[in-house]
Amino acid sequence: MHATSDTLALIGNTPLVRLKGPSEATGCDIYGKCEFANPGASVKDRAALFIVKDAEERGAIQPGGCIVEGTAGNTGIGLALVANAKGYRTIIVMPETQSREKMDTLRALGAELVLVPAAPYSNPGHFVHTSRRIAEETPNAIWANQFDNIANRRAHIVGTAEEIWTQMDGRIDGFTCAAGTGGTIAGVGLGLKAKDEKVVIALSDPHGAALYSYYACGELKAEGSSVAEGIGQGRITGNLEGAPIDAQFRISDAEGMEWVERLLKEEGLCLGLSSGINVAGAVRLAKRLGPGKRIATILCDTGFRYLSTLYNAEWLTAKGLPVPEWLAAA
Ligand code: PMP
Repeated sequence: MHATSDTLALIGNTPLVRLKGPSEATGCDIYGKCEFANPGASVKDRAALFIVKDAEERGAIQPGGCIVEGTAGNTGIGLALVANAKGYRTIIVMPETQSREKMDTLRALGAELVLVPAAPYSNPGHFVHTSRRIAEETPNAIWANQFDNIANRRAHIVGTAEEIWTQMDGRIDGFTCAAGTGGTIAGVGLGLKAKDEKVVIALSDPHGAALYSYYACGELKAEGSSVAEGIGQGRITGNLEGAPIDAQFRISDAEGMEWVERLLKEEGLCLGLSSGINVAGAVRLAKRLGPGKRIATILCDTGFRYLSTLYNAEWLTAKGLPVPEWLAAA
């Protein structure tokens, strides 16, 4: 890429890496899309950019305006960076259960942070409803509405899917990832199916989410729980509508953490738990499709965002998760 004076052009065009451990474990070629390499260190920079550009194109936001959003954190970080580059304000509403690092990052970027207690979606105090109300009450503000605004999944149809297709030379048998808003799985799924309808699209759902049972038997039903941030959906969001899901897996935190630790110690990748769950899902998909297949998944965000949680022995113990030996000794 030649020099650019547009910092927002740094979003997307992330590297794709063949993951040695998962590939050797299955006899397949499993690739990870390095979304942690975006400027905000997560897959959500793409959605943030598309949502803001869409609002500008529709004339919904004026110079000096404000962007309001409810988020597990990563979308807020993406929006704050995009807003800074374009001269907008950001107000970010986040459940207080999310990692310290995300809160500190949002404050450091200049976002106005509103923390709310974790609550079910049916509760009017839920972070999504709170953010909509704040947007309505704030002059010259837009509500990004990442869950139902399909500018989110468009970022993955025209960006992520297109890039994966090119980076894999048009030879891909399967794709899997987890869903938060569903923008990534729906967008990449639609984009890849448009290239080759035989590509198998599989959802890797964490415990505590309702989509596994929805795609398996048509009923939204959640079981168990997960400490993974940014994923785990209980409804069919606007972005998930019409998503081409062919298969589904339920992945436990322990299974995801095993890959988080192996990818760190064996391949030098420091990732969050949604990435571990995605890689665990890719391994399951590879076993389902058989040896020799080519599968892609998403490495969603950097592990540096979870130093106080996933990479902290006390926290892991409190959550009933195994402590890796190098952390136990630290
Ligand atoms: N992983 C992490 C860490 C996230 O923050 C998100 C976004 N909520 C996702 C995965 C899921 O992405 P999407 O919203 O596109 O489903």
